[in-house]
Amino acid sequence: MTITNPDVRRAASVDRSLKLIAAGAAEGASCAPELAAGPWEFDAGPAGYGPGASMGDVIPTGSPRQGALPEAYRNASDDELHARIRAAKATLGDRVVVLGHFYQRDEVVEHADFVGDSFQLANAALTRPDAEAIVFCGVHFMAETADLLSRPEQAVILPNLAAGCSMADMADESSVEECWEQLAEVYGDLDAPDATGRVPVIPVTYMNSSAALKGFVGRHGGIVCTSSNARVVLEQAFERGQRVLFFPDQHLGRNTAKAMGVPLEQMPMWNPRKALGGSSSDELDDARVILWHGFCSVHKRFTVDQIAAARASHPGVQVIVHPECPMPVVDAADAAGSTDFIVKAIQAAPAGSTFAIGTEINLVQRLAAEHPEHEIFCLDPVVCPCSTMYRIHPGYLAWVLEELVAGRVVNRIQVPADVAEPARLALERMLAAKPPAPTTAPVGA
Ligand code: SF4
Repeated sequence: MTITNPDVRRAASVDRSLKLIAAGAAEGASCAPELAAGPWEFDAGPAGYGPGASMGDVIPTGSPRQGALPEAYRNASDDELHARIRAAKATLGDRVVVLGHFYQRDEVVEHADFVGDSFQLANAALTRPDAEAIVFCGVHFMAETADLLSRPEQAVILPNLAAGCSMADMADESSVEECWEQLAEVYGDLDAPDATGRVPVIPVTYMNSSAALKGFVGRHGGIVCTSSNARVVLEQAFERGQRVLFFPDQHLGRNTAKAMGVPLEQMPMWNPRKALGGSSSDELDDARVILWHGFCSVHKRFTVDQIAAARASHPGVQVIVHPECPMPVVDAADAAGSTDFIVKAIQAAPAGSTFAIGTEINLVQRLAAEHPEHEIFCLDPVVCPCSTMYRIHPGYLAWVLEELVAGRVVNRIQVPADVAEPARLALERMLAAKPPAPTTAPVGA
């Protein structure tokens, strides 16, 4: 079932929950009451990810900044913004396609032509080759991926340039280059195959990384993975390499490799602030998967205690978590999988099922609203959305769409050609390892 009535959908939205909690009109707690304010409050202050799940993460210097959103959008009522977005989309017609990530607020998702995870959405854009503009309601690396996969004439637009990803930024290109040089000191020539034809190390980057990092792995024989195909990609990497350097998310790497039977002691962590990442040469010699010291602030919040509490309060509950969660949480859950896996598991369950879900709360609350035949709740009792995803607000969406109507392209994300070429190579290797997941159906279909 899909809720097509936006009033019903908005009534169950995370944004509404945050505002009611901040106003003292609802019980419960949010991790940052400041999120109830408009994201433009953060455009003028010091560079940062904003309050909420990413509050403790440091934003790299040089990250794109969003200029001041015109006052007309900041002061507009919610109803006015929704009407302006609908009018602009109607005027633009097939000239624009709006993509909405699963973790976006409902007030944005209701205007999306496609809803899905980052790779599904980049593929969905391919079904609209005639669209002049692709408006990506997600975070920066997702817009970069859409730019890599779209036609050169198509403009990919990120409505708020400050919508980054703290996990993607935990592995910057210079730190990974430095790591690569140190690995060459340990393993010797990184391009030289052994007697079995395998090179010392294959770099694998999670989709949640900058285009620069995808370009890095493309130049070094590496490959991109998603949370859906990480195992297939690692299997392919092990056919060509003795070991894998996996970044930026240590948890996805560890959970995937552990499920493949790789012992934990053969998965050293690479801390870019330490010599040899904090490991000895012997440990690196013995390594099968070298895990970068990165994590998702949102998924790091889920705990084994939350799972125990869910099982105690809801006997028979099925606990499903995202593989970006720490390993003890994945081990304690009934199942772990990508957002697409979670959505499909709920769709396939018999009516009357109970689910406790460990992933971003916008998706969880939307699934709960769309599936009244089940009981669905977020493992984390605190309302804590991804604060960088939250930077996309209907005000920014209305602004970029009305600029398009006026013939102006703002907030275009363009990957430089010298980065794009090897980055596409790394994506193509992933596609060769496993066909792309089917794209999501248009909303309401
Ligand atoms: S949920 Fe985590 S990985 Fe996804 S955009 Fe937010 S910080 Fe990045």
